[in-house]
Amino acid sequence: MDFSLTPEQQALQESARRLAEGRFAPRAFTWAGFPWENAKLLAETGLTGITIPVEDGGQGGSLMDAVLVMEAVSQVCPHSGDAVQATNFGAIRQVSAFGSGRVKRDVLPQLLAGEGLISAGMSEPEAGSALTDLRTTAEYDGDEVVLNGEKVWNSHGPEITHTVVWCRFGPRTRDIGCVVVPVDAPGFSRGPAETYMSGEQHAALAMNDCRVPRDYVLADHEALQRMFTIFGVERVGNAVRALSLGQAAFDRAVEHAKTREQFGRPLCEFQGLQWKFADMRMKLDAARLLIYRAVSNADRGAPSPTEASIAKCFANETGFEVANQALQVMGASGYSTAYPMEYLVRRTRGWMIAGGSTEMMRNRIAEAVFDRRFSQRPPRRD
Ligand SMILES: Cc1cc2nc3c(=O)[nH]c(=O)nc-3n(C[C@H](O)[C@H](O)[C@H](O)COP(=O)(O)OP(=O)(O)OC[C@H]3O[C@@H](n4cnc5c(N)ncnc54)[C@H](O)[C@@H]3O)c2cc1C
Repeated sequence: MDFSLTPEQQALQESARRLAEGRFAPRAFTWAGFPWENAKLLAETGLTGITIPVEDGGQGGSLMDAVLVMEAVSQVCPHSGDAVQATNFGAIRQVSAFGSGRVKRDVLPQLLAGEGLISAGMSEPEAGSALTDLRTTAEYDGDEVVLNGEKVWNSHGPEITHTVVWCRFGPRTRDIGCVVVPVDAPGFSRGPAETYMSGEQHAALAMNDCRVPRDYVLADHEALQRMFTIFGVERVGNAVRALSLGQAAFDRAVEHAKTREQFGRPLCEFQGLQWKFADMRMKLDAARLLIYRAVSNADRGAPSPTEASIAKCFANETGFEVANQALQVMGASGYSTAYPMEYLVRRTRGWMIAGGSTEMMRNRIAEAVFDRRFSQRPPRRD
C-alpha cells in the first residue's frame, strides 16, 4: 500500500495550487454567486472535465486527479471549489456518461468552457431523502419529451443554464428517469432567488408542459440504478469540499494559536487547546484517507457506493466539526463576519444535508454491514 502521490499527481496538485493562490485567492470569500470568471480560468488551464473522456471534450484523467485539484482549489477559495464541482463531479458527469451524441454536442462544450452551469434537479417539496417519491412526470410526444412538475433547493438555481430533471416516465420506481433541460426551454421557469445559511443561492424550478428534444433524455427507466456509480463520484466531490474547508479552517486556527497571546503566552502553549488541535488533525487525516481509499479503489471508474458513503459521511462531519472547533480557538475574531472562519462553519454545515444526508449515508453503510437491504418504508398492511 503506497500512500504517496505520483510525480504527475504532485505536479497537477502544484499547478492547481499555483492557480488558486495566484488568481483565486485575491477574491476568495467575496463571491456572492457562482464564480464565472474562475470557472473560465479553470477551463483555460485544463482543469474542467478532468474525468470526462477526451472524445467528450474532457481531459480523460482519473478521479484522483480531480480530487487533488478540488482540494488545492477549495482550500484557497471555496467558491471556486463550486466551479470545480460543477465542471467535474456533478450533473455534468451524468450528461457525459448517459447523454446522446446530440445532447453532448449541445451542452458539454458550454459547460466545459465554464460558460454554462448544470445542476441536479432532484429534490421536490414531497421528495427529499425519499427521492423515489418524486412526482415530476415525463411523457414522450413525437421527437420531444414533455415535463410537468416542480423542483426545490436547486443550488445556484438563479444562475444555471441547464438542469438534469429527475422525473417519472411511469408510476413505478423503475420508471424513474432523467432529462437535460435548458433554462430557455418552453414551459420552464424559476422561482425567486433564495439563500441558504451559507449565503449561496438556490431556487425552485417549475416545468409546465416543458418541452425538450427526445435526445435530451439521459434515461427513461431505472435511472437510479444506472446512475448509482455517478452518485458515488458526486458524493466524493462533496466529501472533498467538506474536508478542504475543514483543512482551511484548521490552518487558519493553527496560525492564530501560534501568534495570539493570552496570559503572557501563545495560545498553542495551553494543553486544553493542543488537544483540540490533535483531535482536529486526526479527523482531517482520517477523512482524507477514507476519501483517497474510495477514489483509488475506483481507479478510472466510480467508487463503490459503500466506500463513497463512508467517505462522505465522515468528511462532512469532520469538515463541520473542525471548522466549528477552529472558530472556537479564534475567539471573537472567529465569530466575526469580518473574517472567513464563520463562513467556513456555515458552509460545511450544508454538506451534512446535501447530496444524501449523513443519516442516509449511515443507512447505506448499515446495509453493507448486514449485507441486506432495510426498507425505510412502513410495512405493507395487505
Ligand atoms: C446546501 C444544499 C444544497 C442542495 N442542493 C440541491 C440541488 O442542487 N439539487 C437538489 O435536487 N437538491 C438539493 N438539495 C436538497 C437536498 O438534496 C435535500 O435537502 C436532502 O435530500 C434532504 O431532503 P430534505 O431536505 O427534504 O429533508 P428530509 O428528507 O425531509 O429529511 C429530514 C431529516 O430526516 C432525516 N431522514 C429522512 N429520512 C430518514 C431515514 N430513512 N433514516 C434516517 N434519517 C432520515 C434526514 O437525514 C434529515 O436529517 C440541497 C440541500 C442543501 C442543504
